[in-house]
Amino acid sequence: MCDLFMKISRRHFVKNVTRITSGAVVLGSSSQLVSSCINEGIAGNMKVFIPMPIQVVIDDVGWWSGEDGSKRQEPYRTGINRNHVPADYQAIADLGRTLGIRPQAAFILCEWDKENILRKLPSSTWMGERWDNSRWIGPWMEEAAEIIRTNKENFELTIHGIGHEYWESGAFTRAEWTDSNGQMRPQDQIELHLDYYGKLMDQHNLGSFPRSFVPAAFRHSFGPSEGRKISLAEILEKRGVTYINTPFESMYNKERAQYGHFGIDSGVMTIDRGSDEFPWLTFPAHPSAVLSGSTCGLHWPNLLHPDPERNSEIVREWVKYLEPYNEKQEMMLAPDSVFFQHQLAHHVLTGVQLKRNIITIDFTETDKLPGTIGKRELAIKILADKPLQFISDDLDLISDLLPGSNDFLYKLNLKRIREITKAQIRVK
Ligand SMILES: [Zn+2]
Repeated sequence: MCDLFMKISRRHFVKNVTRITSGAVVLGSSSQLVSSCINEGIAGNMKVFIPMPIQVVIDDVGWWSGEDGSKRQEPYRTGINRNHVPADYQAIADLGRTLGIRPQAAFILCEWDKENILRKLPSSTWMGERWDNSRWIGPWMEEAAEIIRTNKENFELTIHGIGHEYWESGAFTRAEWTDSNGQMRPQDQIELHLDYYGKLMDQHNLGSFPRSFVPAAFRHSFGPSEGRKISLAEILEKRGVTYINTPFESMYNKERAQYGHFGIDSGVMTIDRGSDEFPWLTFPAHPSAVLSGSTCGLHWPNLLHPDPERNSEIVREWVKYLEPYNEKQEMMLAPDSVFFQHQLAHHVLTGVQLKRNIITIDFTETDKLPGTIGKRELAIKILADKPLQFISDDLDLISDLLPGSNDFLYKLNLKRIREITKAQIRVK
């Protein structure tokens, strides 16, 4: 049943963690993205795939204190029994550099405030107008900032929050952007929190305003929430954010997401994180579960060692765990979150057909997406039993033979040269 034209429709939902008979744990998402006979073409001894991209997203980066303060109205933070140090930031950059990817560090910024500006935004911290961050001001700030600045290719700063929760009269409720009933915080507060997020970044020259967002405590509504005229995505979009990553299982109004595994909310691509292998408190973590969704989500302690000098041991485990996904025919590690967004759109919506020696790629459905989503590069993989060459008049094409298999597995990076809905590649 896998022959000829494969049109993509992804309406089969598979529930979270599926245990398969071997005893291995498969990390699922609300939609099962990798399954046979979907967006692959088979003819003779050749198979073509539009691989599912995998993006690494690491939550709750940015704390200096590791303490879970939730019992006394302070944030949960990372819940580890030591403070965070610059080596913990280096771990993220090392993971990125070794794998050739750009992990997203979903960043909390309040403990980076060296001018106590957050006194003017009392809803953002447990101290309110008496906010005093002097305890965390020190040379480690500049050291960590320098790691972030010099590893831009392998470290993406993603908005997560200022204090992670939302304080009123000294007590917090979850969470910073959206409450536990799914209602977005008042718009003027959202705008102020985003303003101050930018100001805190500027205190340390952490770069331009982020283009990606992970909602604190995964409280988020797709589209406007009850009593609000505007969605959080629309507010973020006005500030240049193009993409939100959050588990759809806990997202309010998730039925509005148009493509199962992702949806477009006011032009912002909102992608299902699925379920993480580890709870946020696991410190350190030893990854082994099979990924089937497109996000490898974790929390900062999962990547670190109790002794920061030994962080590299845990990073190495994550590298060993993630690297083989590049060698799979139907999956690949996304080099960055922009490629991730485009490739995921292609994986879900672009069709591929293989007839004799002609591969046809059909962008009809993908091109219905708004803006530039799915209009840029994509990658396909081709499995064959002999060496191949690829020629196209419609596409810029770079082909790579991937190592490590007895067969010939090629990865082709493609870019449309002109605006056509169907592009062809000849195989020799
Ligand atoms: Zn968080």
